[in-house]
Amino acid sequence: MTTHTPLPQRRMTIALARPGAPALAVPVPLPAGPASLVDILPAVRAVTDALQDEAARTLAEMGRPISCGRGCDTCCKHLVMLGEAEALALLRTLRALPDEHRERVTERFRAGLERLESAGLMPDLYAAFTRQPYDSRRRGEMQTAYWELAIPCPFLDDGACGIYAERPLVCRQYAMTTPPEACRTPFGPDAALVKVLPPIDLAGAAAAFDGQWVHASRVLPLLLCLLREVPLSQRLFPVLEPEPMLARFLEFASEHYARKAQPS
Ligand code: SF4
Repeated sequence: MTTHTPLPQRRMTIALARPGAPALAVPVPLPAGPASLVDILPAVRAVTDALQDEAARTLAEMGRPISCGRGCDTCCKHLVMLGEAEALALLRTLRALPDEHRERVTERFRAGLERLESAGLMPDLYAAFTRQPYDSRRRGEMQTAYWELAIPCPFLDDGACGIYAERPLVCRQYAMTTPPEACRTPFGPDAALVKVLPPIDLAGAAAAFDGQWVHASRVLPLLLCLLREVPLSQRLFPVLEPEPMLARFLEFASEHYARKAQPS
C-alpha cells in the first residue's frame, strides 16, 4: 500500500438530534471536497467521542463514573472487529507511522497472526467474521477463544494505545463502570462487567455502510487487516460530497443502530 495523502480539511459543527434531549452540537473535521467514507471517519470518530463524553458526564452525575484509565489495557487483548472502511483507515494509519514505530507494530501483527495460526483459529475467524457476520453464537465463541490467547493489540505501547487519536470506533465505544479487576474475567459465570453501551453503535453502522449504500455488514478482526491489505487498498468506496454523506450515515445509524435507554 502506498502512503495515503490526507485531503484538505475544514471544520464545521453539526447538530446531532437525540430523542428526549436537546440536539448535541459536535465540531467535526470534514474533507473540503468530494471524499469517501474512509475520509470522513475522523468526523464519525468525533461524533462517537461526543456521545461517549456525554454518557460519561451523565454517569458521573449518577455516581457511577467510568472506571477506564491510562495503563488499564485489558480491553486491548479482546478481539477487535472492524468494517472495511475502518480496516483501510487503520492500515493507512499504520503506513503513516514513523519507520521504527511501524516496524515494531508490524512485527507484533506477525507475532499475533502466528499465535492465531498455531492455535488453529485462523480459518474460523475468517469464516465467522466475513461469511457469517450475524452468527452471534459463533461470534461469542470466537471472542472467548481469542481472549484466552491473550494477544495484545499490535498498537498497544506500554499500556497505552499508540494510535489513540486514530483508534477505531469500537475502541472508543468501549467503557466500563465496574472496577478494572472485573475486566480480567469478561466471560463465563463469574463475569461482573458493567459496560457503557453507546446510544448509537456507530462502529456497527460503519461496517454496514459504504458512503452511499447500505449492505450486509462485513467485519474483519483487527489482526487480520494486515493480510487483507491489498484487496482493501483496491476496494472502491463511493466518492461523494462529505456533508450529505455524513448526514446520511448518521440518519442510517440512528434508525438502525440506536440503543434504548442509555445510560441507565
Ligand atoms: S487500537 Fe488502541 S485502543 Fe484499540 S485495541 Fe488497539 S491499542 Fe487498544
